[in-house]
Amino acid sequence: MASEILDDRSASPWQAMLHSNSTVNLQKEWVEAEGYLRRAQRIVAITHVAPDGDAIGSLLGFTHAMRGLGKLVTPACQDSAQAKFDYLNGVHEIRQTADGHYDLIVAIDSSDLQRLGDVFIPGAHARLPMVVFDHHVTNTMFGTVNVVEPAASSTSEIILKLLRRMNLPVTGEIAAALLTGVITDSLAFRTSSTTPDTLAAAMELMRAGVSLADITRKSLVLRSYDSLKFLAAGITASQIEDGIVYACITRRLRKEIGTKEDRGDGGLVGTLVTAMEARIAAVFVENPDGTIEVGLRAAPGYDVSQVAFELGGGGHAAAAGCTIPGPMRDAVNRVLPRLRQVIREA
Ligand code: AMP
Ligand code: MN
Ligand code: MN
Repeated sequence: MASEILDDRSASPWQAMLHSNSTVNLQKEWVEAEGYLRRAQRIVAITHVAPDGDAIGSLLGFTHAMRGLGKLVTPACQDSAQAKFDYLNGVHEIRQTADGHYDLIVAIDSSDLQRLGDVFIPGAHARLPMVVFDHHVTNTMFGTVNVVEPAASSTSEIILKLLRRMNLPVTGEIAAALLTGVITDSLAFRTSSTTPDTLAAAMELMRAGVSLADITRKSLVLRSYDSLKFLAAGITASQIEDGIVYACITRRLRKEIGTKEDRGDGGLVGTLVTAMEARIAAVFVENPDGTIEVGLRAAPGYDVSQVAFELGGGGHAAAAGCTIPGPMRDAVNRVLPRLRQVIREA
């Protein structure tokens, strides 16, 4: 299974090119990363904007583990965590700015520097060393040291590997955080990125005393009634054309639906790709500043990461995204032909 996934990824020449160096040198990257972590006293750990379960889980798992080593760690993210992650220790300590004095930056679950948002302050942070822990195939290798493992189903899995390598204990709060990341990024072990290593990670985290059922329910299953209504309206607004199911969520439509949440797609793109007829699903969300957030999902055998990457975003073969200029019509007309091409060339 694992080798099948690796084969799938290297089947695309641009991806093979992106990662030919990292795979060969990864042992060196791990050793260097551990060196930076052991030497650092004050670490700022930053995860990506609009954080998902893996972003929050890997950020907090890393933070707790490094504090156990006696480091001063500031976890940071431009946007606050969704309320459903309130069960995680430390979630309210995540800062939305990182203007203190640090000697190391650790970027977590982010495929490029822009994705760290305005928490990254070029003037203050650019001269600090940066260690990157990530699993996006489109990672731009923006750190001083890049521990990038596209075969890992989540960054949380990579952080668990870090703990094993550094001989650090997996406490209950670390296990809850990392299991949240493993479950949310693998959709509870249903994605093709799920490997025996993913299951072994989950087993180890469960043995540390956390409940798989409880965390799955809290992080993945439960949603607000309001967001169910949004999902229903989004499905109704969708259309299917040439194997592509897509929906446009304009500011106006969002207002009509009347949801409280004013960002994101509420999981709509992940629902649209469950249509048997869908080879690719796309959701276009109009942001308050007029830019368009594009969420992409692909059925097995199709790869949307390259399209997202070319448009300034990133992701994985089966799940990717980017933010592009509006208006909505232009964004749709730019993306749909590229998606049709992906289907033709698969
Ligand atoms: P989402 O549709 O937000 O769940 O994201 C799916 C995947 O695409 C995740 O791996 C994200 O990290 C990635 N992604 C989404 N939006 C962007 C973006 N604007 N830039 C880079 N990666 C993105
Ligand atoms: Mn993420
Ligand atoms: Mn992730």
